[in-house]
Amino acid sequence: MATRPLSPRLAVYTGTFDPVHLGHLDIIVRGSHLFDRLIVGVGNNPDKTTLFSIEERVTLLRQVTGQLSSVEVQPFTGLAVDFVRAAGARIMLRGLRTLSDMEYEFTMSLMNRNLDPGIETVFLMANEQYSHISSSLLRQIASLGGDLSKFLPVVVQEALIVKIQRK
Ligand code: ADP
Repeated sequence: MATRPLSPRLAVYTGTFDPVHLGHLDIIVRGSHLFDRLIVGVGNNPDKTTLFSIEERVTLLRQVTGQLSSVEVQPFTGLAVDFVRAAGARIMLRGLRTLSDMEYEFTMSLMNRNLDPGIETVFLMANEQYSHISSSLLRQIASLGGDLSKFLPVVVQEALIVKIQRK
């Protein structure tokens, strides 16, 4: 375990981002106003099937956060708390949409605190405009040909359409 002091000015926003949508981006922008630096940690879980590969998810996130100078995007494998600590942060940032999110996120944060009591999870409430969207719902809508322009940055929308057509 790292012995260097963990920075309170750095936070790590972890997730799968399959793909990144405007709800995620809203949390990233707001997080970047709260912390000096924000690392977006894109989880690579070999047991979880994703539509976009880890490289594609990282590339899309880098494209949509390119204007945010304090935001950096990195892939990670393994436990999120280990990634947060290795980055030198003590804050894991997460978003909360619904009551069901709360139950899941509460369990995850308790488990993470057990795994590493030095890491605190900080939650930001979803913007009401995006509180009903999730990557899985957007993937479904895309496969049914629905309009995604309100929920996805253009570059992600294009990538999702291409991906669904090739499936
Ligand atoms: P994970 O598989 O880790 O839940 P996700 O990519 O689904 O990864 O979500 C990453 C984080 O973003 C989670 O904390 C999730 O609650 C949050 N999140 C997802 N969708 C939204 C949204 N529409 N608004 C705000 N936060 C969201």
